[in-house]
Amino acid sequence: MKTQLGLYGYMPRIQVLPPETARLIAAGEVIDRPASLLRELIDNAIDAGASDIQVEIQGGGSTSVLVVDDGMGMDAEDLALSILPHATSKIRSADDLLTTRSLGFRGEALASIAAAARLEITSRSAETPEARKLVSRPESAPTMEATHGRQGTRVQVEGLFDNFPARRQFLKRSQAEASLCRQVFADKALAHPAISFRFASEGRNLDRLPACESFRERVLALHDDPGPALVHEPRFTGQGFEGRAVLASPAFYRADRRFMQVFVNRRRIQDYSLISGLDQAFDGLLPGGAHPFAFLYIEIDPSLADFNIHPAKREVRFRDPASIRHVVSSGLGSFLRGLVRARPEGQEAEGEKYGVKNGAQYGDSHPALDFGRQGGSLPGGQSRGSGGSAWYAPLPGSSGGGPGQGWDSLLRERPFSPGVPPMGTDTGTGTGTGTGQGDPIRYLGTAMELFLVVEAGDSLYLIDQHAAHERLLFDELSAARPAVQELLVPILYEAESDAEDTRIEAIVEIIAAVGFGLERAGEGAWALTSLPALLAADPAGALRDLLDSPEADPRKAALATTACRAAVKDGDRLEAAAALELARRALALPEPRCPHGRPVWIRMTRGDLFRAVRRIV
Ligand code: ADP
Ligand code: MG
Repeated sequence: MKTQLGLYGYMPRIQVLPPETARLIAAGEVIDRPASLLRELIDNAIDAGASDIQVEIQGGGSTSVLVVDDGMGMDAEDLALSILPHATSKIRSADDLLTTRSLGFRGEALASIAAAARLEITSRSAETPEARKLVSRPESAPTMEATHGRQGTRVQVEGLFDNFPARRQFLKRSQAEASLCRQVFADKALAHPAISFRFASEGRNLDRLPACESFRERVLALHDDPGPALVHEPRFTGQGFEGRAVLASPAFYRADRRFMQVFVNRRRIQDYSLISGLDQAFDGLLPGGAHPFAFLYIEIDPSLADFNIHPAKREVRFRDPASIRHVVSSGLGSFLRGLVRARPEGQEAEGEKYGVKNGAQYGDSHPALDFGRQGGSLPGGQSRGSGGSAWYAPLPGSSGGGPGQGWDSLLRERPFSPGVPPMGTDTGTGTGTGTGQGDPIRYLGTAMELFLVVEAGDSLYLIDQHAAHERLLFDELSAARPAVQELLVPILYEAESDAEDTRIEAIVEIIAAVGFGLERAGEGAWALTSLPALLAADPAGALRDLLDSPEADPRKAALATTACRAAVKDGDRLEAAAALELARRALALPEPRCPHGRPVWIRMTRGDLFRAVRRIV
């Protein structure tokens, strides 16, 4: 057995690459970064029937990834076989692919990991009295010894790509890798509520998720917003499939699709058609450009869905995609319309008009001053997309008297009506301290680590510092060709799918004109050779953001990505003088919206404020 371990069973006829390099290339298809390694290990634990899965990572997963499960474990013989290429206990023949429900089936993951990192597996099956520990190093034959341990499996992977600097350089900062790991963890936890999970990074416990009974409970355990009162779990069925959706009522929405997720047979997949089916279910219930909070879970007869089309099984090919999409959009659509109809008359009319739904009839009580909170309730914190686009819909307080009313009307009048007249321009507002150059602006401080609080004329403004800076940068970049930085060492980017590859091909010239230089570097691979100078700090992340951008116009997507990444962030502290200058320019913007379409500032006049506290104006 041992002599076989770690070797191919054949020699290639034309030997160009040393075998370890060839293995690594093959491994790269499955394992390209710590998050994909973690995904494979959690999948194995789930496939082994675990009821508890514990994950610990160090150094963003590049230093170490540890996954401990209480599943069925392996005996000595299986353990030795487990790290061989194409060794799997899950299928016997290609036909089994039609019926398998396991997450893994290619038998590649452990072999790939063994090729790329130091791997230690300790495992004990129910039938064996003692545990075994297998130790494997990329450069030497694996060893095995008896050890102590309870039933289940403990897999530790250390030093991913340590011996392969060419691959290592594609990894992001460890914090970014850690948040990708946490995202993978969340994807798995969301799909398996009956399993308890724990996630720790750098010794800190970030998630403890007890086993629970429903997808809804798990979604709520991972997301603080939108809160239990707004979240429903309708079911639907169709030919050969059934499903559930965990969704927030239309009172809660976002400007991006980050909380629109699709799971098919417990795998998180990227499926544009189903995502747009979800959007369609909410059609007419949300304001333009807004997206719902909706998690879709489909269980389908495995013979009607092929997962074997993507190395990471991130895509699925349905036998009949149209019928699934139809059930999702029309079934959930009528469920949602039922919810909306259940609402008292007057509120519905108001909400509909402005796209701001009042969720009060579901028993929630949102504070009146809830203007829209910064996102980030997702494990992993920062979104891979723009920090600026993580936002929540305003949830006005209960209507029908009370202070909520006043704020409610502010929301409707200001941020949701385009073309709010700018203030502080040459004419001034004509009242109070008007100077002819515009009202003097007083910077009062920063609130919530995000809003510049500014008084000017008879009004108080809350200016979103990120959105404001983003808009100003966007306008500057659109007006003149951005400064470009050539990369000393081009960065390799592998398209995530054929579709993405084709898309890059289609936009490559347009984005080159605004600084993103990409050259073909093989099938599905691109070399990033230059990028806007403002983005030099994290070229790979910038490219990723650009490709993930929901903006259809590639030039605009590239400029918006640049502006978003270069702009001051939430929590960045500005000097008073810089804050004042930013406020002055933000208030002078002819179109005070960020490139994603969000309002840059909120204005409250003296009259609004006085009315809100019931003073006579
Ligand atoms: P696959 O999951 O595609 O079968 P892997 O390389 O991930 O391939 O794993 C190879 C085999 O090792 C699995 O088929 C399974 O029998 C065994 N194995 C891996 N991880 C575990 C685990 N955590 N518990 C029990 N068995 C495992
Ligand atoms: Mg596997």
